[in-house]
Amino acid sequence: MSNLYDLLAFEVVEGIEEGLFTAEEYVCSVIKRIEDVESKLHSFISLDSEGALSSAKLIDRKLKEKENIGLLGGVTVGIKDNISTKDIRTTCASNILKDYVPSYDGTVIRHLKENGAIILGKLNLDEFGMGSTTEYSRFMPTHNPWNLDYVPGGSSGGCGAAVAAGECTVSLGSDTGGSIRCPASFCSVVGLKPTYGKVSRYGLISYANSLEQIGPICRSVKDVVMIMNIISGKDMNDNTSISSSPITINDKSNNLDIAIVKELIDGSDDAVTRTIYSTSEKFKEIRCECNEISIKNLNYALPSYYTLASAEASSNLARYDNIRYGFDLPIDDYKWDNYFSNVRKNFGEEVKRRILIGSYVLSSGYYSKYYLKARRLRSLLRLELLTLFKKYDLLIGPTMPILPFKFGEKIDDPLKMYLVDINTVIANLAGIPAITLPVGFSNGLPIGLQIMAAPFEEQKLIDASYALENTINIQRRPNLI
Ligand code: GLN
Repeated sequence: MSNLYDLLAFEVVEGIEEGLFTAEEYVCSVIKRIEDVESKLHSFISLDSEGALSSAKLIDRKLKEKENIGLLGGVTVGIKDNISTKDIRTTCASNILKDYVPSYDGTVIRHLKENGAIILGKLNLDEFGMGSTTEYSRFMPTHNPWNLDYVPGGSSGGCGAAVAAGECTVSLGSDTGGSIRCPASFCSVVGLKPTYGKVSRYGLISYANSLEQIGPICRSVKDVVMIMNIISGKDMNDNTSISSSPITINDKSNNLDIAIVKELIDGSDDAVTRTIYSTSEKFKEIRCECNEISIKNLNYALPSYYTLASAEASSNLARYDNIRYGFDLPIDDYKWDNYFSNVRKNFGEEVKRRILIGSYVLSSGYYSKYYLKARRLRSLLRLELLTLFKKYDLLIGPTMPILPFKFGEKIDDPLKMYLVDINTVIANLAGIPAITLPVGFSNGLPIGLQIMAAPFEEQKLIDASYALENTINIQRRPNLI
């Protein structure tokens, strides 16, 4: 058998249930893998090896006593460090929260635990989820396991790198404007941003509530389905959540009407464009129609996204004021003119920039000029997409317009950094589901295909992705580490 840490989630559960190996053996193999590669990758902010081992032993005991070990029994999960985990530090990769230990589990964590999953630790991100490379993490950047000189994408860069390198079976990220799909694409794994409302956000530390969703990053489409069915559903603690039907793996994906979006391809690197066109040919092999179309409101997506996301961020981050959250300065240090700012100056440059932009577009003189206009553009885009989905089942294009790039290439120019999100923000603005699937490499660097569907049509995304995954034989394990 190959290394245990290489197994997919469904193989782990089957292997443990059939007695091929114990949960403890599996977890030991994953921990050993982390010891071997973590010094090169820096995926984890916190690692709970001891907790993971004792959960594994519990699973083995349950199995001996013929008790149910749960649908995810023994699967190790890495969690983006902006999702609250009881008694495990949750930092958002920010100095402001560096010692914050939540007193409760987010709903997704509760679901995972109830189904036998083992929470292995917390994964690196750009501070508060703002960024596309993990370079804005206040602790360290994460490296791309396919080439250590390159960024892994962001903001859930720790999730993408850890899953690709076998440091955990699967991970949970959050996606406000592409943060699941960008690192999944750059690290050659599968990432799904669910329809807005499909997964509870309770326990997710807010960046921009109207845009974000929690979702899985995995090494196979089948694993994505497994995790989604555990974490989705209505939650009394999140009023935007809604119950929806479970998804399944079907062997047939015939007769899907697919459209390639011209604007998503137009500005892309040549290597990316070539790979996406050759992948679209593969859809014909699996008996799907594939035509090229144009979306006229796409030009407005990126500026609308950055206006709205910053506006919501400026309001959400107001709670870090030394009183509700922050450093908890002793009251003796209270000075009326600097008590708040003493904590707020500890935000990183990018987070401060977002707070400034957000406060500006919400200020009375500019509210209708910027914030309201962005909201109108968002509605226009959503309407245009919903109309297109009456005709087409799926819209496709590159997840990222460019290949992964080297550290330092974009960090000094925020606009360059924002531009890499041009294809991913669309799904967040429209609230629709989108998946990224690894479809090729150029110079050893991964390329991902993005597939978008109408709200709650995750099943169609899965059908197309599963068929494509079986058609394209993609290298799964990076050679480097
Ligand atoms: N890169 C985008 C941003 O900085 C998306 C981040 C995310 O999805 N959390 O806002």
